[in-house]
Amino acid sequence: MQRFDKLFINGEWVPPHGSGHTTVFNPATEGEVAQVCNADLDDVNAAFAAARAAFPIWSATSAAERADWIRKLHSALERRKDDLAMAITQSMGCPLEIAKIIQVNCVKALEKFAGRAYEMEVEKRINNSLVVREAVGVCAFITPWNYPLYQLIGKVAPALATGCTMVLKPSSVTPLQDIIFAEVVAEIGLPKGVFNLLTGKGGVLGDAMVTHPEADMVSFTGSTATGKRIQQLAADSIKRVCLELGGKSPFIITENAPLEQAVSFGVKDVMINTGQTCIALTRMLVPANKYEEATQIAKKVAESLKVGDPLAKDTYVGPMSSMSQRETVLKYIQKGLDEGAKLVTGGLERPKGLTHGAYVKPTIFRDVHNKMTIAQEEIFGPVICMIPYNTIEEAVSIANDSIYGLSSGVWAGTQEEAIRIARRIRAGGCYVNGGDFNYDAPLGGYKQSGNGREWGEFGIHEFYEIKSMQL
Ligand code: NAD
Repeated sequence: MQRFDKLFINGEWVPPHGSGHTTVFNPATEGEVAQVCNADLDDVNAAFAAARAAFPIWSATSAAERADWIRKLHSALERRKDDLAMAITQSMGCPLEIAKIIQVNCVKALEKFAGRAYEMEVEKRINNSLVVREAVGVCAFITPWNYPLYQLIGKVAPALATGCTMVLKPSSVTPLQDIIFAEVVAEIGLPKGVFNLLTGKGGVLGDAMVTHPEADMVSFTGSTATGKRIQQLAADSIKRVCLELGGKSPFIITENAPLEQAVSFGVKDVMINTGQTCIALTRMLVPANKYEEATQIAKKVAESLKVGDPLAKDTYVGPMSSMSQRETVLKYIQKGLDEGAKLVTGGLERPKGLTHGAYVKPTIFRDVHNKMTIAQEEIFGPVICMIPYNTIEEAVSIANDSIYGLSSGVWAGTQEEAIRIARRIRAGGCYVNGGDFNYDAPLGGYKQSGNGREWGEFGIHEFYEIKSMQL
């Protein structure tokens, strides 16, 4: 078992002021993977002091210098990709071969963020005014466990590009890839204090980070419940708060869509990462006259996905990220049954042959009404609700009947038809006719799914202030 006894503050590995360690568990084996030290409030203060001290110099570097640092970081991380993938698989269960793609490929986005550093040098003359961009300052970053490296890169890369300094706290479930990231920061010799890493419990460190007088901005990815609390806490100091929160995304399949292809896409979209994807299309909306056929296709596809050991090459569905997440998902499955939804496949029993570990069967519910709890709340597990509809009007209305608005999907007969429907859905994104994920496109939510946009050229906008000088 690995043991990590130090925090990364001011360019150095230092012993924490806090005491005790948090155990990282492997959700496939339930065994211990690592012990990671806990920071306390003094460590929070030390990390923000380091980030504040580094800010004047780092924010004054040229775009070319920062781009150079980001490229160095990119090359060094490329060399650690296997370690990063294994760290994620061991701590949250994403199958290794899949983790190499969906969890670790995001490293390549650093190259693009190096180029975006130059956007900070864009100036605009408006009559007698000169408008310039300046780094927002010291950032507090709090990230979740489901795509832990992706969430790190989505915040750290634009912050570096724009000249911000930062203090990052990963989820205590998955701190290992962040520790590798800090090792890489130390290896390339990034100026001290620009990047600081604290490990420990969100409940202990979160409030202090969010309310810290030296934090100019908070960027949080996680549940809507924690996001609400963070926004309230940060309100007192009017600091910028960027929230990337939960989702319950709809997927409208139209009558003239290729049913087999569309349903198969929808099932695999949810089951990857064992349903723990914020943008997963967990409400599948199907024309009533195609409903029976669609449920049969969904059953066949779900039952064809191999569930099991995340280290096995052919596994598609690993365990949930933790035993407590497994309990949460099972409670939702029970709730669905209690509310009258019917199982197409899956359910409460353990997948065959998996006597321990945080496994849940890929589960599909039919006869779901959109007002049911399982259609309204984010389950964050391998669970799909299939909902019938009669007209596109009704489908759009069901799609929008949610407190969330993170993502969506439409599969129609033509791209034009799908885009027309997509534009009527109140969500920050839409997957059109099976479109691919794009690291260069902005990602973020409407409604209670958040207020920020990460990735792509929009992903740096949150990290700068605009100054207007009247000449
Ligand atoms: P969570 O809200 O429980 O925890 C997220 C982070 O907040 C962790 O680092 C945790 O330690 C910290 N935290 C906990 N209590 C805190 C407090 N009181 N103050 C400050 N920080 C605190 O979320 P989770 O269970 O780790 O992640 C799953 C959630 O993240 C899902 O709802 C998912 O949809 C969402 N998510 C959203 C996006 C997006 O881009 N919108 C991406 C990934 C995940």
